[in-house]
Amino acid sequence: MTDAQDTRITIDLDALAHNYAALRARAGDAEVAPAVKADAYGLGAAPVADRLWAEGARSFYVARLAEGVALRRSLGDREATIYVLDGATPGSGEALEGAQLVPVLNSLPQVEAWNVQARSGRLRAALHIDTGMNRLGLRPEELKVLVGSFDRLKRLDVELVVSHLACADTPEHPLNATQLARFQEAAALLPGVRRSLANSGGLFLGEAYRFDQTRPGVSLYGGGPEGRPHPEIRAVATVEAPILQVRVVPRGESIGYGAGWTASDNTRVAIIAAGYADGVPRAAFPRGEVWFDGARRPMLGRVSMDLIAVDVTDCDAARPGAMVELFGANLPVDDAADAAGTSAYERLTRLTLRGVRRYIGAAR
Ligand SMILES: *Cc1c(COP(=O)(O)O)cnc(C)c1O
Repeated sequence: MTDAQDTRITIDLDALAHNYAALRARAGDAEVAPAVKADAYGLGAAPVADRLWAEGARSFYVARLAEGVALRRSLGDREATIYVLDGATPGSGEALEGAQLVPVLNSLPQVEAWNVQARSGRLRAALHIDTGMNRLGLRPEELKVLVGSFDRLKRLDVELVVSHLACADTPEHPLNATQLARFQEAAALLPGVRRSLANSGGLFLGEAYRFDQTRPGVSLYGGGPEGRPHPEIRAVATVEAPILQVRVVPRGESIGYGAGWTASDNTRVAIIAAGYADGVPRAAFPRGEVWFDGARRPMLGRVSMDLIAVDVTDCDAARPGAMVELFGANLPVDDAADAAGTSAYERLTRLTLRGVRRYIGAAR
């Protein structure tokens, strides 16, 4: 298997370090604890965490228990704090404790379960407070019950209180200020406990949202905090696929499944070895584009499972083997996502299927 036949995902670890530094500058005195869940949004949790550790990151967030166990193994003897956002799910206690993971406790039963797990000793814990997203977390009134019943917390070292913003990518949304106020009120019930509210978007909402720790994910990996390119954030992943052939589609004929696009004139078309398993969404047509030979070029017709077609009229460089950029350094992931009615989160995490990852920049 040669490079030229595969989707190529180039991950620029120096760009990752740049974004981490940019977010640290935004965070002021607050810690920046990277979210490396979902295999670091498809870019590879182990190499990403290695480089971020070298840049000074000491706390990381994963979603699942298994992600936490794998990250602990890859970090080896480096003393990182690994928070597991799913919390102390049923049956996870031994594995969480064994890998020294800190669950972000999401409900009263989880608090109970982790307190039981602590048995004779003590265990570290974070508490997730739901301030209006209604996804995970204790309701503020449940927190009041909890702090009022000392028994439930007595074997736990609660070191961090967390909440998550529903609309941080939309600065003018009124829910941001509402959640901020609820968070301040809830966190006041836990004096001396560190506080964490902001994700990538939250870091750009101003100083009030920073607290003691921030938890960015997508903007480390090249997605803008408001779902569009941002001047402080660089592309980290560049995804390219090769042209398989170049052909002329005669006027009046169509391309691909469903005959979704018909040539109004003779059209020079490149057929690209990229499809669903390379992370190209079906909805990329009709607005999708790729970058090739210095310009954005429109996709023509539906994704045909493993192939897409692109207009290369007047483009002499188009020939078999030449690489076309699906998104990355020249075509921002946010733009590629927007054209397909989706988000950078989805475009990035869909990369894991078939592409060959290649890392550039210093590893650590
Ligand atoms: C995923 C996640 C983050 C990171 O969010 P981004 O929008 O990618 O910056 C932070 N906190 C929680 C609770 C999350 O689930």
